Amino acid sequence: MSAGLIDGAALAREVYAALGDRLRALAGQGVTPGLVVVQIGEDPASNVYVRNKMRACEAAGLRSAVRQLPADCDEAEVLALVAGLNAEPATHGILVQLPLPAGLDAERITQAIDPAKDVDGFNWMNLGALVAGRARFEPCTPRGVMALLGRAGVPVEGSRAVILGRSNIVGKPLALMLVNRSATVTVCHTRTRDLERHTREADILVAAAGRAGLVTAAMVKRGATVIDVGINRDASGKLVGDVDFASVREVAGRITPVPGGVGPMTVAMLIENTVLAAERTAGVSGS
Ligand code: NAD
Repeated sequence: MSAGLIDGAALAREVYAALGDRLRALAGQGVTPGLVVVQIGEDPASNVYVRNKMRACEAAGLRSAVRQLPADCDEAEVLALVAGLNAEPATHGILVQLPLPAGLDAERITQAIDPAKDVDGFNWMNLGALVAGRARFEPCTPRGVMALLGRAGVPVEGSRAVILGRSNIVGKPLALMLVNRSATVTVCHTRTRDLERHTREADILVAAAGRAGLVTAAMVKRGATVIDVGINRDASGKLVGDVDFASVREVAGRITPVPGGVGPMTVAMLIENTVLAAERTAGVSGS
């Protein structure tokens, strides 16, 4: 039996459709949500991601702009740009596209973003609020995973969830979100012993390790939901996730493809967070 596909692009369209009323309410107050992406240097993958975000803003009816700096700029320039955007009323969301060129401290720069405009949810104020179960902005990728589970009707409460990866932007915040929704969560990483013993227990298995082919069919419990966050290139240059899709889909109950799974939903969550930021500034209540 082949797993049901969780179509991230289709589910993301549902998110955009649900934003329509909220955008109209904001427009009634003369407000169009605005996102500014700060891009430093010319990383080819970043160019693609930034372009996708701009397109999504345009399609959803948001204002968006890219502020570019050269790869050899110094940190003071970046911090000055961020400070200027923090003070700009029409900019509701600010995102610094990662990775940054060598020599720039990504942590110092992302922490300089006003927490009220931190639509990526990387600021420690926002991560701390998530720990306390009082999230203001949740990081887009783990929020996207939760949205996929919710919209695909995957039961979370009481489930066993296993996450491969413990990064501050995916694995750790996702673990908190799942715990806050009453899943029992195991977070695995490079030092985890006997990975398969953990993954085979999972009702929900999320791969966010950045290792092509890491998850094989033998590691998956029959009927489990498998969410593939990974983005890798295989030897032929093709985009692949962390999951060996062809074999795992014969065992899993539901599975996300790469591309077309977590990626589109991550972008949709960025748009949703930007709308939320604008609603808070305008004093309009959102969903
Ligand atoms: P990261 O490199 O910061 O973290 C990777 C994590 O995986 C680490 O905690 C590491 O311990 C763990 N890991 C690595 N190899 C492992 C192994 N063999 N077994 C168990 N754990 C292992 O990466 P990240 O920023 O969290 O991103 C993870 C992946 O998700 C990457 O492929 C990235 O490109 C992708 N990503 C996708 C989206 C999206 O929108 N689809 C967004 C963000 C990240």
